[in-house]
Amino acid sequence: MELLSTFADSGYMIGELQLFQDVADSSLARLLAGCPVLRVTAGETVLDTSSSGARLFILLRGALRASHPDMQGGLADGTSVQLLPGECVGELTVLDQQAQPATIHALQDSDVLAIEAALLWQIIDQSNGVARNLLRLLSFRVRAVNAQLRRRHRVGEFYRQLSEVDGLTGMQNRTWLEQNMPSLLEQARMTGHPLSVILLDIDHFKKFNDEYGHQAGDDVLRLAAKVVTDTLRPSDFGVRYGGEELLVILPNTHSKAGAGVAQRLCESLRGTVFFSDMHKPLPHITASFGVASLAPGQDAQALIASADTALYRAKHAGRNQVILA
Ligand code: GH3
Ligand code: MG
Ligand code: MG
Repeated sequence: MELLSTFADSGYMIGELQLFQDVADSSLARLLAGCPVLRVTAGETVLDTSSSGARLFILLRGALRASHPDMQGGLADGTSVQLLPGECVGELTVLDQQAQPATIHALQDSDVLAIEAALLWQIIDQSNGVARNLLRLLSFRVRAVNAQLRRRHRVGEFYRQLSEVDGLTGMQNRTWLEQNMPSLLEQARMTGHPLSVILLDIDHFKKFNDEYGHQAGDDVLRLAAKVVTDTLRPSDFGVRYGGEELLVILPNTHSKAGAGVAQRLCESLRGTVFFSDMHKPLPHITASFGVASLAPGQDAQALIASADTALYRAKHAGRNQVILA
């Protein structure tokens, strides 16, 4: 980086600079006349603004990249932004002494006008036009940062939801269950509404896999999950609890109604003809069901254990049936 000249001797015009656009004030040229114009070579880490104190930099020619660890300065992609001729960087550092300055690299050979903080304040005090341009510039920066934050939030939310969904069946997974079951129980307790759960397990699924292959087993599991999910109300939840064990949570449902839902599911599964991915019909499957309702003082683990005991009894009673705990 070398000192090329003062702004007055550089030949650059003030009207081409974003900050001074449409500002009819002849005294501005006089104020800027002595400011240094710096020449920086491509690839140079040109201006570490922390080392050079609070200054505003305006790119006159070439291309710069301003990088910042925490988006100060409205850096559009969150970490760095490319500056085009006429644009400036470092205004936040000048306006807010707390702001962490950006680090600036030259992407091409560039000329840069540097304006000391004290001089910039003097210009702002003197020119409403510059103050207005600066406000407009800052509002663009704020909008860009807000849009970036919203985008990040959406992406974060997308991945959070994805991490709570089972890949094979599209049902909620155990992570979701652990995150959400306590608050569902709490809600039931607070409102005094009943809550029931159904634990179901496909019968002789190991044998099915052995006879028709794991791929056909996967197809059946996916379709069985769909049969279950399609039966539920929007307020119910379907969870892949284990390999071929599904859990259904029924808020606002007492045990008898829960057993009724389980009975319907049992009959639907029994009557469904499953097809493989190759559109070949597969043999019928059945499942066994354990139903339990939330008892006072019970936590999620105890409630599911109660449904599991009922399921175990359904298996021992001959499978393909519902038992209420
Ligand atoms: P039961 O009627 O007593 O439930 O008999 P079962 O054979 O279904 O019970 P077991 O728990 O012994 O076997 C469960 C089988 O489910 C074993 C496992 O290979 C199969 N399984 C678990 N997860 C998957 C899966 O994602 N895909 C496939 N294809 N099979 C699975
Ligand atoms: Mg099982
Ligand atoms: Mg099974």
